[in-house]
Amino acid sequence: MYAAADPHYIEPLNPSKLALLLEIKDEFMPLPAGALHFEGGFENDIQNSIAHWNKGVVPYADFVQLFRTGRKTFALGEMWGKAVRSGAMFYRYTHDPELKEILKKTVADLLTTKRVNGSISCADISRQPDLRGGDLWERKYVLLGLDEYYEQVEQDPLVLQAMMDEADCTIQQIGPSPKISILDQGWSPTHIENSTILEPILRLYKLTGQRRYLDFAKYIVDQGGAKGYNLVDEAYRNTDPEKMGGPYPKAYEMMSFFEGVLEYYRATGDQLLYNASLNLYHKIRGQEITLIGNGGADQPYRPAVAGEAWDHTAVEQTNPKINRIIETCTGVTWLKLCSQIARLNSDPAAIDKIEKYAYNGLVGAMKPEGDGFSYVNRLNGVKIDSSGWGGQFNKLHVTCCNLNGPMGLAYLPFVAVMTSKTGPVINLYNAANVATTTPSGHPLQLALKTDYPLTGAVKITVSLKKSELFVIRLRIPEWSAANSLRHRAERSATGGLKA
Ligand SMILES: [Zn+2]
Repeated sequence: MYAAADPHYIEPLNPSKLALLLEIKDEFMPLPAGALHFEGGFENDIQNSIAHWNKGVVPYADFVQLFRTGRKTFALGEMWGKAVRSGAMFYRYTHDPELKEILKKTVADLLTTKRVNGSISCADISRQPDLRGGDLWERKYVLLGLDEYYEQVEQDPLVLQAMMDEADCTIQQIGPSPKISILDQGWSPTHIENSTILEPILRLYKLTGQRRYLDFAKYIVDQGGAKGYNLVDEAYRNTDPEKMGGPYPKAYEMMSFFEGVLEYYRATGDQLLYNASLNLYHKIRGQEITLIGNGGADQPYRPAVAGEAWDHTAVEQTNPKINRIIETCTGVTWLKLCSQIARLNSDPAAIDKIEKYAYNGLVGAMKPEGDGFSYVNRLNGVKIDSSGWGGQFNKLHVTCCNLNGPMGLAYLPFVAVMTSKTGPVINLYNAANVATTTPSGHPLQLALKTDYPLTGAVKITVSLKKSELFVIRLRIPEWSAANSLRHRAERSATGGLKA
């Protein structure tokens, strides 16, 4: 719950507007880039990851080369987009010029691989989209990497054009008959991974306002997300996650698809999609999330999905037969899905879940050297840090989880303190300095001094030049039984207020 929270309020649908698009506004919005700075705690992990991963061992040129020469293992073309996406989100936080140069250089390199049909793809045009190779999944990450770069680092029109060319080529190839169905592509039994391209297609729609991207998004949503299984319908009917998607309830991909579904809800106001996504979120919270804040396992229900499927993990987490459990990619995508929920409906319980994962599963999966994350994170025994899907780049073995872990860290400053119509929202209590504005637009400084979570004492200094009435929402952590708030106001020598 939030102290001083306003009652939840979801704008009702207006039937007269249903034929039109009803854009949904978030209740919590991120602060502008660079507005928050952590002091210690997560700051150490973030800087460690930036220095040794994004500015360290990431083989950007080798990732780009896959788009010229093709790849030997399915889906390897995801790596470039994932590395650039986390780098761009870190840049949002640090504005580090060295990181910017690295990203700028690799983006320019990637753009040289654009094929004559506009695609940036590991597959030759004659083989596109290349069925089991993972072309659409890879394009999803190309789009997300370029989009995050465009939004956070530099609004280069060539980058926007590359995104549009990639999406337009995809729309040419994928769709209703005689085009190829989005459910007939990909490596998995239900091809769930392909429909996750929904999220970047909607981000592109938001950037450009081009109706064809929304139409393509509608096509993807209407297909239901998995061959033979309509994930939206299943979620709407409150199906247990483990029973969704037939033989392949893949945790990471399923949540990634629903991130796109929520973006579609934002763009259209389709309440059914929101309700379906909310149902799934509640089901995952209740049935799948373990004591370290992450979920998915192999035993007893889904031995064939390599520990990456929903598995009633909340109950089964102590099952000694479990071999593989809790993929880092799943945890980071859960964190992002929780962020979507909190932004849309101001649910502090979603932030509780982010907090639980951040302090336990996420940071616990990071190598102390900062140059990688473990793949699966067993609760009983050693971590298996490189066993699973990935590729070899000289001496470096890169996995999906190496690439997604930094994105989890990069999300922490994005959600730690947010803003709302009524004033700032303090979600995470890592020590931090924040420069934001009041609801009427006047400068507002927040300083969080604390050693949280070692102790629960948090001192928040609120500084503003002129007195103004507004709400500061403070999340009361779900684990905290006794809470007290003391307030002291003083006027500084220069006439400003501190509280
Ligand atoms: Zn992974």
